[in-house]
Amino acid sequence: MIPSILYFSPLLASWKTQFHTALCMYGQTVEWKAIQSIDQSPTFAIVLLAEKDIKASDWPLLASRRTIVIVDEWSLDNSVKWIQKGAINCFARDDEHLTAWLISEISGLTVNRSHQAEDDMLQIIIDAIPAPLFFKDHLHIYRGCNTAFCQFLELSREEIIGHSVYDIAPKPLADTYYKADCQLLAEGGTQRYEAEVQLGDGSIHEIEFNKAVFTNSNGQAIGQVGVMLDVTERNQLISQLDKATRTDPLTGTSNRREFNLIIQDEFEKRKHSEQRLSLMTLDVDFFKKINDKFGHGGGDQALQLIAKWLQSQLRSSDSLFRVGGEEFYILMRDTNIQNAFEMAERLCKGMATHIFSIDQKPVHITLSAGVIELDPTTELESILDMVDKALYEAKSDGRNCVRPVYL
Ligand code: GH3
Ligand code: MG
Ligand code: MG
Repeated sequence: MIPSILYFSPLLASWKTQFHTALCMYGQTVEWKAIQSIDQSPTFAIVLLAEKDIKASDWPLLASRRTIVIVDEWSLDNSVKWIQKGAINCFARDDEHLTAWLISEISGLTVNRSHQAEDDMLQIIIDAIPAPLFFKDHLHIYRGCNTAFCQFLELSREEIIGHSVYDIAPKPLADTYYKADCQLLAEGGTQRYEAEVQLGDGSIHEIEFNKAVFTNSNGQAIGQVGVMLDVTERNQLISQLDKATRTDPLTGTSNRREFNLIIQDEFEKRKHSEQRLSLMTLDVDFFKKINDKFGHGGGDQALQLIAKWLQSQLRSSDSLFRVGGEEFYILMRDTNIQNAFEMAERLCKGMATHIFSIDQKPVHITLSAGVIELDPTTELESILDMVDKALYEAKSDGRNCVRPVYL
């Protein structure tokens, strides 16, 4: 469609009257519309921009319009610079060639249909691909896409083709795509990354982009093609799976695997910080008797109740782990050995006086504990050995007690 509206930027406001008269003389009636930035004009519109009005945010959109840059003083260098950025042409304000060029554009004499049949066939083929697919030219303007891409974004082909990402995505997301596009064009080859995409209904999906640069017969990069894979569900499953591998299914507390990861991390941090860090190891006394009395199911129930009770006693900075059958670790941040010892005593006493109920029967449970402060100059492995030994000492000293390790 040939537009009869000419869009212009602020500095051209007074200049356009004289230009309008010239166009009228040659029988062209046009409507003028002022814009502050290029995105206020539709794609494929003829847009006249005073060079001084062009902002960096206009650059990615230059090629999506039929942009003419109007300069105060014309030079070949500068003209080519704007054409390479996506403008169709560059004219001096008083250059009458501009009038001739506009008359030709408005008359719309130059539609080349020689490749129409091939284009139609190619479109049929890419429409058959179920994954969303798009391609853009070297100026980042969408030049084609398939039906799945339109459906995915809930946009029509017309709303996409000829547009820049800044026309079809919110600015923060468009910035991400634009940056990736620039990198791919600069480096060539292929590119794979994940980014968020906002669908027509406003929902955000995680998408894996698989893109590649395509070149002309001279090997020059002339655009990029990409397919999109919706990995939202896959990523959710991965994070659920990851969480499952770090969680004890019986009690819902973190497991030994999680402990091994966290303790390494916290111990490294401790080496570079003054914040004290302590570890408590706990083992339920005579747990076999609970299993004997209530069966394995009753024992499981007891473990759940114990974990829940322990969790309820902790500060938000403490972490509880079930590291074995009826063995727990508590990592206490910002805690020195004295505070850790007091906390272990409080837990053992609290547990000993708490009455649990299994199969409606009251159950008394006691714990034995070892505590140690993580000294950054001692090997982590020997710290873990020492605190386990302290726990055995508590057991052999009669159970229901705490044995600290002083380094
Ligand atoms: P103590 O620690 O005081 O020496 O005695 P204990 O009876 O607790 O000692 P031990 O470590 O030998 O026994 C622990 C028992 O815990 C043995 C095992 O059958 C039971 N156990 C381990 N994991 C589970 C579990 O997931 N569910 C149930 N019900 N029992 C478990
Ligand atoms: Mg035990
Ligand atoms: Mg045990």
